[in-house]
Amino acid sequence: MNPAGSSARSDLRLVARRLSPPLIAVHGGAGAGHGPAELVSAGLRAALDAGWSALTAGSGALDAVVAAVVAMEDSGTFNAGRGAVPTTAGTVETDAAVMGALPDGRVVSGGGCAMTWPANPVLAAREVARAGDALLLAGAGADRFAESVGLVRVDPGSLTGGQPGQAVSSAGTVGAVALDGVGVLAAATSTGGRRGQPSGRVGDSPIVGAGTWAEQARVAISATGDGEAFVRAGFAHLIDWSVGAGAPLVEASRAAFDAVARWGGSGGAILLGADGELVVAHDAPAMARGWRSTTETVAELDRR
Ligand code: ASP
Repeated sequence: MNPAGSSARSDLRLVARRLSPPLIAVHGGAGAGHGPAELVSAGLRAALDAGWSALTAGSGALDAVVAAVVAMEDSGTFNAGRGAVPTTAGTVETDAAVMGALPDGRVVSGGGCAMTWPANPVLAAREVARAGDALLLAGAGADRFAESVGLVRVDPGSLTGGQPGQAVSSAGTVGAVALDGVGVLAAATSTGGRRGQPSGRVGDSPIVGAGTWAEQARVAISATGDGEAFVRAGFAHLIDWSVGAGAPLVEASRAAFDAVARWGGSGGAILLGADGELVVAHDAPAMARGWRSTTETVAELDRR
């Protein structure tokens, strides 16, 4: 299942497709410790359905990725939203970011990190992007902002089961990328962080250019994996820069995974080019991944 040919990295599992828009792809994390494959596939499929409904109703790529991520945050199957894993201090601290374009054409990005109570961190990220006066809000400030825009406050204990190190969910940051019928690209990522992370730690997911990216007319990216290495590599922006310099998306992806590996990390990513090229790649033990177009729907836990 590798039409792009063999990878330069022997451990990079890579799928490449060229599909007609509208298109959406999702991931439910890369690593070890996902739940049962059937549960993971069902969660991915529900996310694809939610995103696809938004796309086909003409809502645009940004609303589509948000709808897909909300479905995964609500499922409790993934390490995001209601399935977030606790920190070593027993707190729930979630991160999320979005990047795309609003219906009025404004190109936006925004995120929140170390948020403690929004059940849907991606909705907080979208509102930060809409408001436009900050790129990234952290901690209590992000929580207060979420409240000010009317997001529902939930008991943080209900997001995880509340036991340090004993998440009720399976592993898996979530993300989505979409290309809508008018050529707009968008990306969203949401996470409960690394299992057993120290309180206050922030990974790559809410950092535009690292775990989340959408450059119009070029490429949308959502990553998952060892956040510190993805940030150090400048993962998503490195791909965007390479594509802008003329590299095919597959080659740009390989080079960026090499950069992450040089920083001692591994993980996965979903990427959509403005021309409908889809690349899904990971060098982790497993990756939950899916995509949907008019001709193809895939929702699977890919184990090596
Ligand atoms: N990248 C996320 C982080 O470092 C975790 C993950 O994707 O598993 O916070």
